[in-house]
Amino acid sequence: MSRAIATALDEVAAALGEGFRGVAERDYPVATSTTYRLGGRAALYVEPGGPDDVARLGRALREAGIDSATTPILPLGRGSNLVVSDHGLPGVVIRMGAAASWIEPAGRALLDEGAAPGAAAEEWVRAGAATSLPQLANWSARRGLTGLEWAVAIPGSVGGAVRMNAGAYGSEMSDVLISASVFDLCSLELEDKDRTALELRYRTSILTERHLVVAATFGLGPGDRRAIRAQMNSHRRHRADTQPGGANNAGSVFKNPPGDSAGRLVESSGLKGRRVGGVRVSDLHANFFVAEPGAHAQDVYDLVHMVRAVVYERTGIDLEPEIRFVGRFSEAAE
Ligand SMILES: Cc1cc2nc3c(=O)[nH]c(=O)nc-3n(C[C@H](O)[C@H](O)[C@H](O)COP(=O)(O)OP(=O)(O)OC[C@H]3O[C@@H](n4cnc5c(N)ncnc54)[C@H](O)[C@@H]3O)c2cc1C
Repeated sequence: MSRAIATALDEVAAALGEGFRGVAERDYPVATSTTYRLGGRAALYVEPGGPDDVARLGRALREAGIDSATTPILPLGRGSNLVVSDHGLPGVVIRMGAAASWIEPAGRALLDEGAAPGAAAEEWVRAGAATSLPQLANWSARRGLTGLEWAVAIPGSVGGAVRMNAGAYGSEMSDVLISASVFDLCSLELEDKDRTALELRYRTSILTERHLVVAATFGLGPGDRRAIRAQMNSHRRHRADTQPGGANNAGSVFKNPPGDSAGRLVESSGLKGRRVGGVRVSDLHANFFVAEPGAHAQDVYDLVHMVRAVVYERTGIDLEPEIRFVGRFSEAAE
């Protein structure tokens, strides 16, 4: 990290001191905030304590001359889709923490415009960016609201799920998202972006490192509580039977190519159980790479590249990573 950036980060930390209700910490072990639990330290970690803190942070970054073009900035949720470099991140990690974990009803919209009062309506639900998906799915189920059953066992946050357009079992965020409140760390504007403006596609959106999701609104349908519960239990059972659980991995490593499954391609290429250093392809599901004690973030990177190359060689299909690598990694030797 250059001396100029280090000084600028000191300025940000100092500017946040007074009146800031959240957490601002230099040299933070960011691995502890990810499911892989790998990687080095972040030069500056900030957890806003509320909406005012988000704006204050934006101003502090601008005054110190920090933006995503000059300094790595990472909005962080539950770290369940990330691998942070062993060298850490010479920039700012912004994590939406406990203050952004909340759920509230946000009104109703008639499903059929012009329908008589009392006709079926969509319930709108608003949640802070740090709210976990299982929490949101369970909250909705308790109220007999359908639409988020698929999210019950995804260990991510609302913010990360919007950015990634998370999904499972044929459903995804874009099916239920009405809008997201996004703070732009460059323009310092807070904007409500509707679903269309977010350009949600398969595990991607228009959002970049400069965009911090602070809350999102979902439209959920009226449903039968027991049917919703049954569906959620079935998803949980399916995951317990077919996936290695939430610890020491970041879910699906590769996106599924059109009409096929990445796990099937990895398995049929004979790579189940293949290992690099302390990370191996799960025996339970070949699209999950599991870290063992002593593993390095670089091992994940190398295994991803090795598996990608072998699958390409054997099937002609170039798998695209779904997990995100943050910071500096070394290219594997040819
Ligand atoms: C066991 C397991 C199972 C999984 N199953 C699924 C699945 O079925 N379907 C699926 O889609 N995913 C799955 N995942 C991956 C992951 O849980 C999702 O992608 C989730 O939406 C990521 O949320 P997060 O809060 O952990 O995001 P992070 O991993 O923290 O971040 C992911 C991306 O979102 C950005 N981001 C995070 N928070 C914000 C914010 N507030 N504002 C702006 N950007 C933000 C980050 O910068 C990063 O680019 C699984 C992961 C695990 C470990």
